[in-house]
Amino acid sequence: MKSRKKEIISYFQELDRRFFMDSHKELAGLDEALPIGFEQTISQPSLVLEMTLALDLQPDSRVLEIGTGSGFQTALLAEFSEEVFTVERIKELHNRAKERLAEAGFTNIHFKLDDGSFGWEEFSPYDRIMVTAAASLVPNELVEQLKNNGKMLIPVGSSAMQELTLIEKDENGNVTSKVLNYVRFVPLKGKYE
Ligand code: SAM
Repeated sequence: MKSRKKEIISYFQELDRRFFMDSHKELAGLDEALPIGFEQTISQPSLVLEMTLALDLQPDSRVLEIGTGSGFQTALLAEFSEEVFTVERIKELHNRAKERLAEAGFTNIHFKLDDGSFGWEEFSPYDRIMVTAAASLVPNELVEQLKNNGKMLIPVGSSAMQELTLIEKDENGNVTSKVLNYVRFVPLKGKYE
């Protein structure tokens, strides 16, 4: 039987990044973040894969994603978990991602147009949280919406560079964090910018 890691890698390799882009499609094969309008980017493919693997998704995971963007990362999360709750603050990106992911056949994604700095309390707690925009510090609201035994990935730091931080809650609710990599994401707008 294929390991989950191998399944994720092979799904990722088959995923056509051009499907998630309305412009610059000719550059989709580059391992770089690319513009998707509104001063936002579709993430660098190798980083999307690295973050997906690091989140340790389980088939029954309920996942909160902050920063839907193009929906590229959302597709990977939805393919390898039970349900995804994704929040985006830019209406045009939210609408396009919703259309694309419906066209791709996903039925386990819930979309919200809002400031995701505060998470999505209504459906919390979540087994996994993925933040795809950079925060100056870890939002308390998101830590509170993470289940015991849950994991959260978030880029934390200045606008120039951030620490890709893995936050874990143990079975008693104790929180630990470790830095996995150094990354550069667009800012998480709002309270934690
Ligand atoms: N993973 C996405 C992809 O590959 O298309 C990339 C996301 S892009 C780097 C970050 C996204 O976070 C942008 O679409 C941006 O509008 C969104 N964003 C920034 N601050 C936000 C906030 N406070 N709440 C919700 N979304 C936010």
